[in-house]
Amino acid sequence: MKKIIIAIDGHSACGKSTLAKALAKELKYIYIDSGAMYRAVTLFALNNGWISEDGKEVNTEELIKAIDQINISFNYNSTSGKSDTFMNGINIEDEIRTMRVAKAVSAVAKIKFVREKLVEFQQTLGKNKGIIMDGRDIGTVVYPDAELKIWVTANMDVRTARRYKELIEMADKITVDEVRNNIQSRDFEDSNRKESPLKRAEDAQDIDNSYLSKDETLNRAIQMAQEVIATQ
Ligand code: C5P
Repeated sequence: MKKIIIAIDGHSACGKSTLAKALAKELKYIYIDSGAMYRAVTLFALNNGWISEDGKEVNTEELIKAIDQINISFNYNSTSGKSDTFMNGINIEDEIRTMRVAKAVSAVAKIKFVREKLVEFQQTLGKNKGIIMDGRDIGTVVYPDAELKIWVTANMDVRTARRYKELIEMADKITVDEVRNNIQSRDFEDSNRKESPLKRAEDAQDIDNSYLSKDETLNRAIQMAQEVIATQ
């Protein structure tokens, strides 16, 4: 059976990666979390003092100069059964999920040079198809020819509650309001930036999972994928 590319986009914390991971497992496709790459570059900038903790001040020049020193990879973790993000050989999976990184990431993601580098890398990963990538610009910029594009949505209360639960489980000390504010501000920044803003691809299919279980969401996506794969 011919393999396809599946692009999954949507706002922050709407369940894109949960869906993408489960769908990849079902189809035996590779899953790539493009947000993890922007988070990795952000962690690198924070650790070098090139971005303020609130993301308001960025030393773009230093970051651009050093970007080729950042080597991002993903490795399967047999204990968690998930793929972990590595930067220059170090497992940064937990660190990039913290609120510290979430607060600064949209400022890094709007830098043209950073996007160009990461998009190039993302496109290389999809050369052989059989890939599911989630993010903000996958169906519009990274893979505009993806055979299947899914636009995921969920209402703000559901998104806030899900992300809050995830962060609390990771022992990140945060409040519900902080989580909601972060989601809202990232949505605003990501949708209004000049470089490849977050946007629904015109030919995307929608899944609103506000009132769907993980399995119901997955089943809808499987059906979409099967329909497309059958036409290949
Ligand atoms: O998906 P996740 O929430 O981990 O993404 C973190 C941030 O990375 C987003 O808020 C956005 O600023 C940026 N991002 C992006 N383009 C992508 C994926 C993520 O700009 N394709």
